[in-house]
Amino acid sequence: MKQFLTTWSRFPLIKSEVEEPSSLEEVRKYFREKPSFIPYGCGRSYGDAPLGNFVLKTKRFRFFRHFDSQTGELTAEAGVTLQEIIKHFLPRGWFLPVTPGTKFVSLGGAVAADVHGKNHHLDGSFCNWVTGLWLLLPDGKEIFCSPEENADWFRMTCGGMGLTGFITKVRLRLRTVQSSFIEETIIKCENLEESLSIFEEYSSTLYSVAWLDCTARGRSFGRSLLMLGHHSDDGHLQVPNKKTLSFPVDAPSFLLNPYSIKLFNDIYYSQTKKKITQQKVIYEKFFYPLDKINHWNKLYGKNGFLQYQFVIPKDEAPEAIKEILFTIKEYNEAPFLTVLKLLGKENNFPLSFPREGYTLALDFKLTPRVFSLFRILDEIVHFHGGRIYLAKDARLNRKYLEIGYPGLDEFIRFREANNLFQHVKSQMSERLGI
Ligand SMILES: Cc1cc2nc3c(=O)[nH]c(=O)nc-3n(C[C@H](O)[C@H](O)[C@H](O)COP(=O)(O)OP(=O)(O)OC[C@H]3O[C@@H](n4cnc5c(N)ncnc54)[C@H](O)[C@@H]3O)c2cc1C
Repeated sequence: MKQFLTTWSRFPLIKSEVEEPSSLEEVRKYFREKPSFIPYGCGRSYGDAPLGNFVLKTKRFRFFRHFDSQTGELTAEAGVTLQEIIKHFLPRGWFLPVTPGTKFVSLGGAVAADVHGKNHHLDGSFCNWVTGLWLLLPDGKEIFCSPEENADWFRMTCGGMGLTGFITKVRLRLRTVQSSFIEETIIKCENLEESLSIFEEYSSTLYSVAWLDCTARGRSFGRSLLMLGHHSDDGHLQVPNKKTLSFPVDAPSFLLNPYSIKLFNDIYYSQTKKKITQQKVIYEKFFYPLDKINHWNKLYGKNGFLQYQFVIPKDEAPEAIKEILFTIKEYNEAPFLTVLKLLGKENNFPLSFPREGYTLALDFKLTPRVFSLFRILDEIVHFHGGRIYLAKDARLNRKYLEIGYPGLDEFIRFREANNLFQHVKSQMSERLGI
């Protein structure tokens, strides 16, 4: 069926042929009939990774297949969402080992972007916890791959942005927990130096993340609210059934501007009165604050938004982050959401984003100026040895991708050797020539 399709940022919007197969046989039929395809999970990436001429949605692959209550190893179909895993397994004392900032993500999408959470500095990324996966290749053959078996297919698929085939099932180790609550500590940091040093000081705490006020100037430049957390052991394992609110309409385009964003940031920062606040919060509030509001992406207006997420090696981070925030200010732009995280050691998956250092994610209302700003930011990121996250990208060019991802050549050779260029294509793969 032809329809307009997009992702969470609502850019780009393209006309595609979209199908929702419900069985492997049906997927194989499309493989035979169509020249190429790209899988689409929940569309919570920002950009063009799951978009293409022919899109296969995975949402009807939605069943749990096996759970080993001794080891915590779960096998589930690729369209199962993180929300469904939590709902079913948290009351039994199991939680996701790694989770991004939304639970409305499919298992297939989590593997294909090798997503990271607030604990990357200690636990690595999602695929570090995946012990195996099943992949349907364009010739219709389903293979099992893991770090031991078909290991090259495994490495290329983890973080491979859907470009190696259609993941049908994922086997993942869950984490045991004693509570659905998180013991949270919020530290009010006065500037960027303090924000970074608190991350380091608490690097043995399981979860850490900071909301950065990128509109603050002078001595407050880079001030933040840094949130630390670990699982409580209070024995309460309930999953709340809270109602979500909905953002009703597209916000008018004037709503978000550098002045309104500064005002919002001032209020948000000063609402936290104490230097250190300790509280026990339900996991939803700690991990998924934005999931409370359906369609919050409408806040950016009908043209959508762009996110710029990069990672910079630790020793370069203070300088690079300063330069980036100054450049944004010089451009008279202001990102609405700014999230800083500490990342740990990288794995050996060629297109996986996380590497040791600091990652900053910045959301901008989409305007033509933002594209030219991003080109300047690309230069800064690459000068400091960083890289851009493909799951959040819709406009990077090949030159910067190559510099950022030394494993890119290997990935491309693998695609060539296995005839994947011809059969698995997205708007992103065409744009970047990968
Ligand atoms: C509010 C919010 C917060 C976020 N926070 C984080 C964060 O903290 N950390 C982080 O890493 N990411 C984060 N993300 C990004 C998100 O986790 C990733 O983009 C994830 O890949 C989205 O999964 P999806 O199921 O929506 O996949 P889609 O967006 O539909 O697709 C993403 C990629 O996965 C591929 N894919 C999907 N299913 C399959 C399959 N079955 N087989 C093969 N390929 C497949 C697609 O082809 C595409 O390349 C966030 C997103 C939002 C909206």
